[in-house]
Amino acid sequence: MSISLIARELRESATLKMNERVAIMRSKGDPVIHLGGGEPKSMAPLDALVAAAGMLNSGEVRYTAAYGTPEMKAAIIRYTDDLYGFRPTLGMVMASGGAKQAIMCALQAILNPQDEVIFPAPYWVSYPDMVKMCGAIPVPAKPFDGGYVPNIQDIKLRLSSATKAIMINSPNNPSGAIYPESFIKDVVALCEKEGLYLIMDDIYNRLVFDGKRVTNPIACATDFGSENCKMIVINGVSKVYAMTGFRIGWAVANPKIIETMSIIQSHQTSGPSALLQKAAVAAINGSQNCVDNLVMTLENNAKVMVARLKAFDGVRVCPPDGTFYCFADFSTYEKDSTKLAEFLLSKVMVCTVPGVEFGMEGHLRLSTCGTTKDITQGIERIKWALDPNSPNELIMGQRKMVRDWL
Ligand code: PMP
Repeated sequence: MSISLIARELRESATLKMNERVAIMRSKGDPVIHLGGGEPKSMAPLDALVAAAGMLNSGEVRYTAAYGTPEMKAAIIRYTDDLYGFRPTLGMVMASGGAKQAIMCALQAILNPQDEVIFPAPYWVSYPDMVKMCGAIPVPAKPFDGGYVPNIQDIKLRLSSATKAIMINSPNNPSGAIYPESFIKDVVALCEKEGLYLIMDDIYNRLVFDGKRVTNPIACATDFGSENCKMIVINGVSKVYAMTGFRIGWAVANPKIIETMSIIQSHQTSGPSALLQKAAVAAINGSQNCVDNLVMTLENNAKVMVARLKAFDGVRVCPPDGTFYCFADFSTYEKDSTKLAEFLLSKVMVCTVPGVEFGMEGHLRLSTCGTTKDITQGIERIKWALDPNSPNELIMGQRKMVRDWL
């Protein structure tokens, strides 16, 4: 069977693959602890559920404009004004089927085959494949200092005549790092000087700890929204409102880019679901207590996870500034992160995501989305599996595990 050259280049999403593996193991009764996921366990906001239920009951669930309903656009405008202090016009916003589709439409709107897109490593697993789906070339920029936070030289040294865009995700999945203000300012200035597109994936923007601040990229731009401004800002309800399954995200950019993205989206899906836009609007306009509660839970979970990992000889971890993740260096135990993640899943039923999928070998991404108990038990199991001084037996659920390795 012949499949396209582009499709041949693509790999299954590592995180979605892990979710499937866990679902299968759990259906067989295995007591798996899932530290691999990127979705909070809290309920979607009540405002969102009530609004969607009301629409469903009415039976009036129809196509909407490809770029979203008027209410959805108004909600995005409000959200942008509240968060960035910038009030976009109607023509500057487009709702999508998740932030993922907003990013994809942006890439399809700006890339030609063989164009290059630079993004710092570690990076979100989907970036390389999304760029490849446009026939373009992903250029990961691993910081030369070996850390998780890029500086402008890391980007500049990867520039070429084929560079079309830079993609930035801060707070970052998987490292949890907020990139410094100086870096964001430098990237914005570099893109303006070189005429490059800048995609700011701000999906974790409000999920930050200890009162930390995320630099406002729009405030760094000379004239955001003008014809010459090539910055595209991405957000969505998945993370901040724990509404992953609702699949609503959006982009804010100059009207020409948004119009082009909307045309692309109109031919892909005709636009996001009317029902789910209704829910997203209600979440944005409703009580924001759920966001504060989520941040509190994540911050507490991150502290517990970092404390447990720090008590673990041979593991290195930087406390995350935000997001759902801790990105820990396990290379003293095993340099091949795929092998290590596989070992932990099969031996002690703890699901993690291999760092190599995010462009950094030797690491594991551990999620703080579960309960504190998931975190403490999960790390305890990992320690038991890896530490040669561990006792010979461990009780997992109803099972007694006996170590037959090391
Ligand atoms: N960007 C990043 C960095 C993410 O981690 C995710 C979700 N894992 C997305 C975008 C996509 O989010 P959505 O669910 O809105 O498509």
